[in-house]
Amino acid sequence: MTAQSTGLIHHPYSPPDGFDAPQPGVFKASTVIFPNVAAMRTRDWKSKSGYTYGLHGTPTTFVLEERIAALEGGLQCVLVPSGLAAIANVALALLKSGDEVLIPDSAYGPNRALAEGELAAFGITHQIYNSMNPADLAARIGEKTKLVWLEAAGSVTMEFPDLIEQVRIAKARGVICALDNTWGAGLAFNAFDLDGQGTGVDVSVHALTKYPSGGGDVLMGSVTTRNEALHLKIKLTHMRLGLGVGANDVEAILRALPSIGLRYRAQDHAGRSLARWCAEQPQFAQVLHPALAGSPGHAHWQQVCSLAESAGQGAAAGLFSVMVDERYTPQQVDAFCDALKFFKLGFSWGGPISLVMPYELNHMRDAWPGYLARGTLVRFSLGLEDASDLQADLTQALGRALPM
Ligand SMILES: *Cc1c(COP(=O)(O)O)cnc(C)c1O
Repeated sequence: MTAQSTGLIHHPYSPPDGFDAPQPGVFKASTVIFPNVAAMRTRDWKSKSGYTYGLHGTPTTFVLEERIAALEGGLQCVLVPSGLAAIANVALALLKSGDEVLIPDSAYGPNRALAEGELAAFGITHQIYNSMNPADLAARIGEKTKLVWLEAAGSVTMEFPDLIEQVRIAKARGVICALDNTWGAGLAFNAFDLDGQGTGVDVSVHALTKYPSGGGDVLMGSVTTRNEALHLKIKLTHMRLGLGVGANDVEAILRALPSIGLRYRAQDHAGRSLARWCAEQPQFAQVLHPALAGSPGHAHWQQVCSLAESAGQGAAAGLFSVMVDERYTPQQVDAFCDALKFFKLGFSWGGPISLVMPYELNHMRDAWPGYLARGTLVRFSLGLEDASDLQADLTQALGRALPM
């Protein structure tokens, strides 16, 4: 007779196969149990043919990997604990001492911080290129260049680069292109086929924290590829760095994923209508939204974002920035942000709550881009509130903090 404690752990019951439900199950494991030693010795942790250890994948993570790969138009995907971890996973997998990485001046800030910190310490150099001038990118590619980062639209400043030309330039020189595709989310354009003729990036990273999560409550990232050898390189680094994700977080994203298209389009719709309204307010010297005519890179946005299914309107994230006219002080702009009721002050985006954040562009750029008006930049990200309530909120805060 085995003891009760042992019996509870080694209980022989297993439920019948064949269970099916709208959501995949949540499988949690560090240990994966092998049927015998031969299976343990022969199982390949890198393939999805079986399971070896929680860090190498479970049915739950495999399902999300496959769905993100499909969303992005890729073939392989690895999940990591944050969008920033996805950026780091790519850099550490593809760069070694003596190499150089090129980063756009509009990049998500921590990408550059990683290059200035860890990459520099490892003997990897970087250059910042002008995201709106492909000739500048071309001129900076040299013998040492092994990776070019792309981002569209640019973080905070929302300019839309000529992605197709940038990819052509890098590919012609044999350099790997990695795109931070958090803004496009796999919905605004296909990163692996930007022009409908196969011009595409090699790697797409995505902060699943934003639209795939949709809740403002989960951090996760992904690295998607269409090349088995490249995927394997990234997967090996992923394993050596131990970048596993928790099953409950994966489940939260799997639950939100079916509605990502609806949410993205709703937030896009509200974002465009508010951006157009902001363009009529005299307190704002400029509105930065790639889908608005006159916004920096609007023609490039049209070129790649009108291919996606979007009723001829093109697709865009529910994000835009305004340049508050320079006649207002940064303190007045802070007061405007504080006066908003529905727009909460917080980083990140893609969740149900609308967010606002003032940015000091002087601290983010080496030089003020010529296509930006002078002033203080404020970024809005649209949640799922009614757009007319949000417009009323902007109206009252403008009246209180930025009098004409
Ligand atoms: C938020 C964000 C990231 C980082 O994602 P985290 O999950 O917060 O680390 C990377 N790139 C872009 C463009 C982002 O907006």
